[in-house]
Amino acid sequence: MDKKELTKDILALKQERNAVIVAHNYQIDDVQALADVIGDSFALSKYCASVSQDVIVFCGVHFMAESAKILSPQKTVLLPEIHAGCPMADMVTAEDLRALKRDHPHAVVVCYINTSAAVKAESDICCTSSNAVKVIQSLTQEEIIFVPDKNLGNYIAKKVPEKRMIIWDGYCVTHHRVTLEDVQKAKKAHPDAVLLVHPECRPEVVELADFVGSTRQIIDFAAVSKEKKFIIGTEMGVLYSLKRNSPEKTFYLLSPGLICPNMKKTRLESVYNALKQMRYTIELEEEIMIKARTTLERMLKVE
Ligand code: SF4
Repeated sequence: MDKKELTKDILALKQERNAVIVAHNYQIDDVQALADVIGDSFALSKYCASVSQDVIVFCGVHFMAESAKILSPQKTVLLPEIHAGCPMADMVTAEDLRALKRDHPHAVVVCYINTSAAVKAESDICCTSSNAVKVIQSLTQEEIIFVPDKNLGNYIAKKVPEKRMIIWDGYCVTHHRVTLEDVQKAKKAHPDAVLLVHPECRPEVVELADFVGSTRQIIDFAAVSKEKKFIIGTEMGVLYSLKRNSPEKTFYLLSPGLICPNMKKTRLESVYNALKQMRYTIELEEEIMIKARTTLERMLKVE
């Protein structure tokens, strides 16, 4: 089936199933073009909770579809590719976290949104890369367990030095791949471009950035900036929104390694099959879902 035909069939199925299709900023262009809405993981979960459709097709990775289910338990949430996971989210388990909590009984637990529902259920409050500093500042406790991203954790620790952070040794394999040499090379090749970097990158990379922010913040920054050229230090899928929002500006990817294979697993065929066969449904234990929802809702109160 060609792309046009496939898209037509997907849209017909979407209507038949009373579904909404959402896509993360790191998805392939064809999937982003097809989606009703594009965004980062948390914005999409919040959007899903506000729509009237019964079925949500979440084009992203597993923990994101779980978050959508947690916030919309009455809806059917489909993840088109069952093996689209997040290696960073898998770097900490609920069992790991329980052991860490036993070692630090007075610490409050902050989990990055890039965690499984089971880890969220073991945490006190969640955060995203855009609100992490604000969330940590809102806590009265001095000792904080932060899981799983050590790069984001170290970035926060610098911004909030009054807190004692116990940071898990996880990382995003895609952002962590970017090196200081990549930055030096990119700056030399594009000396008049502004460097925008995600805090999941290594500290030495973040240090050299002109702007550090979440995917959404990077897109917004480039859209309103008077600058014309940007080096982008986050997953390449973000170029779709950057170019769409600012066609007159030029964007260079900081490193060719900024590609997340899990995010690229979902194709138009996957979305078609998801709607046709109503697969793969996200199911969560009631107790985990309730606890994880509290963790997410506490974050919402900080925003
Ligand atoms: S880009 Fe990194 S954090 Fe995002 S899904 Fe891929 S591995 Fe996980």
